Amino acid sequence: MFNDPNEIKFGFQVLGLGIAIGFAISTDLAFIIFVCVAIYYSLSGFYTLFLGRNDEKAKTKRGRTKGIQPTSSARITDESTIAERIKAIHIKNDFKCPSCGALVLPTDIKCKHCGSILVATVDLPRPEKWGDIEIGQAVEVKHPQKGSMSLSVTYKIYYGELWQAQMKPDVPWTLTGSYYVGLGLNENLSLMNWQNRFYLLDLHQPLTDMTINRDFAPHARKFAASNQTQSVSFSYQGAVWNMLDIGRFRIEFAEGDGIRVSPGAVGRFIHAGHNNKILVVEDYQTGGSGLDTLWIGYQVAEEDIKL
Ligand SMILES: [Zn+2]
Repeated sequence: MFNDPNEIKFGFQVLGLGIAIGFAISTDLAFIIFVCVAIYYSLSGFYTLFLGRNDEKAKTKRGRTKGIQPTSSARITDESTIAERIKAIHIKNDFKCPSCGALVLPTDIKCKHCGSILVATVDLPRPEKWGDIEIGQAVEVKHPQKGSMSLSVTYKIYYGELWQAQMKPDVPWTLTGSYYVGLGLNENLSLMNWQNRFYLLDLHQPLTDMTINRDFAPHARKFAASNQTQSVSFSYQGAVWNMLDIGRFRIEFAEGDGIRVSPGAVGRFIHAGHNNKILVVEDYQTGGSGLDTLWIGYQVAEEDIKL
């Protein structure tokens, strides 16, 4: 209330008018206007004070107030991420390759110096699709508008799918055991796989909580309320989008350049479609860091991606 500049301006205008009337017509009328303005602003001040307190409370219980899903305040699994497990092995070896002694990075699975295997990947969970893709690897994609493109992988992200055995706040979110991969490509493109869907995304922009709450959250809640069975559509940027999927994930592993998330970050996603176009919202909440992002691109056939 008080932080609204228009309101402050309005307050001063009324005050000015009151004084002007006071001089011109009647001091009594001016006094009444003056008292009214004073009462309004003292109430406004109290309101702001309480609202401010509520805002603080809302921040600590962000998931609950924002909730795409009503049970989003439930605890998240404390199981180690894939990244943590790899790092733990390197810590034991003091970040040195046991074979040649070269320095290794926290995400290294193979020694970049001698090529020896540093982490036995059989002991780690890994995505069924694109789990063996390496940074720098060549990719051929068929872009629905630009045609065939020869690109290479710049980063990879593993998403761990989360679920809740029961939709209750005291039931923790745990990993389903399914992992999906997001790949960064050069020319500002990226690939994403989720279940049997494949996305080629060529536009991304940061999202604010306000935009998410205004443009996406109500539709996601509606979709969630129907257990994702009801057809829910919404308008965004001049197109009508149909909800395809909503859910939660934890970032399990991230490697490469241009990553805007870190392992441990927990987020919610919205996937919506408009013809062959795809819109992806990533809304991060707790854990590691992650920037809320809107992606737009195309749903493509698996055959259109050659890795
Ligand atoms: Zn080595």
